Amino acid sequence: MSSGPPYAPERIAIVGVGLIGGSLGLAFKRLGIGREIVGISRAETLETAQGLGVIDIGYPYEALERGVQAADLVFLCTPIFRILSLLPEVLAAVPRGALVSDVGSTKQEIVSRATAVGRGGVHFIGGHPMAGSERTGVSAADPFLFQNAIYVFTPTPEVPEAVCDRFADLAKRLGARPMRMHPATHDRVAAAVSHLPQLMATALVGEIGRLNEADRLPLQMAAGGFRDMTRIASSPYEMWRDICQTNAEPIREMIDRYIEALRGLRDRVDQDGLAEDFAFANRIRSSIPKDSKGFLHPLHEILLIVEDRPGVIAKVADALAEVDVNIDDIEVLKVREGEGGTIRMGFDSRETAERSVNILERMGYRVRMR
Ligand code: NAP
Repeated sequence: MSSGPPYAPERIAIVGVGLIGGSLGLAFKRLGIGREIVGISRAETLETAQGLGVIDIGYPYEALERGVQAADLVFLCTPIFRILSLLPEVLAAVPRGALVSDVGSTKQEIVSRATAVGRGGVHFIGGHPMAGSERTGVSAADPFLFQNAIYVFTPTPEVPEAVCDRFADLAKRLGARPMRMHPATHDRVAAAVSHLPQLMATALVGEIGRLNEADRLPLQMAAGGFRDMTRIASSPYEMWRDICQTNAEPIREMIDRYIEALRGLRDRVDQDGLAEDFAFANRIRSSIPKDSKGFLHPLHEILLIVEDRPGVIAKVADALAEVDVNIDDIEVLKVREGEGGTIRMGFDSRETAERSVNILERMGYRVRMR
């Protein structure tokens, strides 16, 4: 990593000012990165974005060239197929020396397209900030969205190391954890940990729904486990169409592996050998950090058992803030099946988690390390 002055782009252009693009704009504004933030989107979006202070100036897509022609840093933040179609125009219009990136959830096709249409003196680094929300659009933009998130970046082969360092530095300043990867590796991993689970949830809820229609099953029996496993079945197809169609082969491979695994379980379902499947899965599951935004630096967690009533969170947070303890993650557990507890809190070190347990115990709460 270079030890020079921090990367200081002058003019940053964001193409597609939605949840991710808008969050980048707000984060840059908050951090004072870039003298001017330009948005390229539909007129209605630009108006909202300007009203929210996400961008300084806006251009419609028809004026894309004017919007990016003086930008030294450009982020393509539209759905993936639109990123693919806008890339040639953006790469042709930016000034020499510019750094162009994107935020699409698959990387191989985008990086291949950027390499194929590449322009000398313009650098392309694919990116995937692994943070999101169930909401979409600029109104849901959040300046803190990238904090603690893994930010995968996938440079094209000709990008100089110094430029890669600049990009990693920028991701760090957003509060994210940059992770350099080959685009094909990213897509294979994403197929395993994100795309397969999405399709599993879609298939499972679909199957149960069909059973329900046929046999009138009381679906209100669906308890914590079913709801935990199927939350993402509510995802909108529009974004997933682009993801599935640009990563079909790795996804098919993962589905095939999963079908094989299910077949094995089917055969062993009434045998004691199934214990080994559970033991192995238990071991792997507990080794995955619970920090929901990424897979590095696990958080140290505690479980607090309190009555579910107004003001409890504020009281707990105040008590910890008084002794300068920062809560890195907090979750109100609606579904307590399995482990109990009302509030789960995550801290960056075991020492801080243990200290918090002591403080909260002294206040009379039932609390334990998770
Ligand atoms: P979003 O909130 O819907 O924003 C996308 C923006 O792109 C829209 O506001 C829209 O603005 C513009 N757009 C241009 N062409 C479009 C089209 N054909 N259909 C829909 N919108 C279009 O979505 P997002 O969550 O920010 O996702 C943007 C990109 O980030 C996607 O490539 C996605 O794969 C990636 N990503 C998403 C997440 C996540 O969890 N949400 C996480 C990481 C990466 P105008 O209407 O003004 O054109």
